[in-house]
Parts: sequence; C-alpha cells; structure tokens
Amino acid sequence: MRVLGAAELLSLWERGMSRHALDRAALLAATAHPNWPADAITDLPLGAIGSSLLRLRAANFGPRIEAHADCQQCGERLAVALEVAELLHGAAPEDGTAPESPTVTVADGLQVRASSLRDLAAVASLAPDAAADALLARCTLNGRALPLDAATRAQVEDALEALDPQADLAFTLNCVACGHEDQAQLDTAALLWDEITARAGALLHEVHRLASAYGWSEAQILALSPARRAQYLALVEGMS
Ligand SMILES: [Zn+2]
Repeated sequence: MRVLGAAELLSLWERGMSRHALDRAALLAATAHPNWPADAITDLPLGAIGSSLLRLRAANFGPRIEAHADCQQCGERLAVALEVAELLHGAAPEDGTAPESPTVTVADGLQVRASSLRDLAAVASLAPDAAADALLARCTLNGRALPLDAATRAQVEDALEALDPQADLAFTLNCVACGHEDQAQLDTAALLWDEITARAGALLHEVHRLASAYGWSEAQILALSPARRAQYLALVEGMS
C-alpha cells in the first residue's frame, strides 16, 4: 500500500477539502489504488472501499486506531482503540485489480447486489428510514415490485450482509461510566480524512517555520526527509 510523501499528502488534502464526504471517500480509494479505473470506484462494493482505506490508513498512520466515541446512553466520551488487522479480518486480499461487484439471487429470482458510494450519494438527502428503503430498492435488481414484504426484505438485508460483510465495520463500545454496551460503526473515510487534515496542518506549519528561517521554497522543504525537517525545526526552535 502506498505511503504518501509530504507533497503528495498536501495535494490530496487540497483536492479533498471542499468535497462531500462520499466524494472524499472515492478520492481516498483512488489514492490508495491509482490503478483502479477512476470511474469504477463509485460503483464498487462499500466493503472494498472501506478495506482499501483501512490499508491506506495503516500504511500512513500506523496499524492501531485510537479514536473517541460518545456513549449513546449517558454521553460519556469514550476512548476507542482498534487494530486495523482485526478490522480487516475476513476482507478479501488485494491483488491490484479492482474488485468485482457480486450479485446473489434470493427468493423468486430477486437479484441483490452490494451497495456502493453511488448508492449512498443517491439517498444522502433522504431521512434515515426513507434512505434505508431507497438503498434496498437500488440494490435489488429485478423480479419483484417494491415495496418488499417484511420476509423478503429480511432476506435482502441478509444477502447484502453476506455479499459485502466488510461494508459495516461495527465494534463494541463498553461505557466505563454507566456500563452500557453498544455497537458503533467505524467511519474509516472520516477518520482517515481527519488524520490527513491534521498532518497537512502540521506540514504547513513546518513549511512556514523553515521558510521564515531559511528562505527555502515550499517544494524544497517538502522534499526534505521527515528526519531532516525535524532536525532543522529543532534548530530553528533553539534559535528563538
Ligand atoms: Zn454511558
């Protein structure tokens, strides 16, 4: 998986900062896999997108995720530690080619395919219940008039989960304050984007410090190895 250089990370941050979250997830997946056809990414299964983002995250920010989530019962802010390797357990290995979007047939010839970023974008403006219905409708390809009856709907939901188990990265949240146990979802794209934003801010600060002290250009400073940049920064801090 690609390790982004300083200039590359800043360019990614600049291209992604004004995008919608879903569009940003596609940008991050394209960054992780420059060989995947760019126009196919929005139609890939969400699990493949999530797994590629987790791998990009591990390569650039380490294999352990330390984040925060709020308890749904008492609002306590809880520290969460997750291992990327555990989150990727069961994910298909990547061989460099874009994954297929598989379909499966459930009752009476009703075909179901995994949901994609394009599907999420199409339902993004709907209220949660309507969005869930619209998403199911988009992922059922033929053979049955909508709305689905409860039994068929349950079959479709099971099929979606079996088709793309990595689409939902759920983890258990145990509240230390009230004892409430809950399932929470990891939003890999949002997490990764926050980390990219923080690193971009730190890089720009380093450029500012070194350019002010030495008169070097941004390109010259970003071309320095992290070790050299850190050493020059320490010298500059020592002077002030
Ligand atoms: Zn709680």
